[in-house]
Amino acid sequence: MKSNTTEVLTPSHKYWPALRQRLNDVLVTYVNSKPHSKCQGDLSQTIKILRSLHNIDVEETIILFQGLECFCDCEVLIGAAKKWNNK
Ligand SMILES: [Zn+2]
Repeated sequence: MKSNTTEVLTPSHKYWPALRQRLNDVLVTYVNSKPHSKCQGDLSQTIKILRSLHNIDVEETIILFQGLECFCDCEVLIGAAKKWNNK
């Protein structure tokens, strides 16, 4: 049963910087000192990180990200906050 204290992790949520930092850590690698994304083209890392955070509604958060046209981890990292702020 879902606890009613769960929250959607929007780009203005207090955990957003933590999600962003952890996504950056897992996704960005340097090849010949150029940033290179390890994104798999899905939201698997985002989901893994969301699940590790307390009181976050993972499903609703993913629906929000898809609504912001973020369908993979690097799009969440790069595009979500921008699209959220432009709404
Ligand atoms: Zn991607």
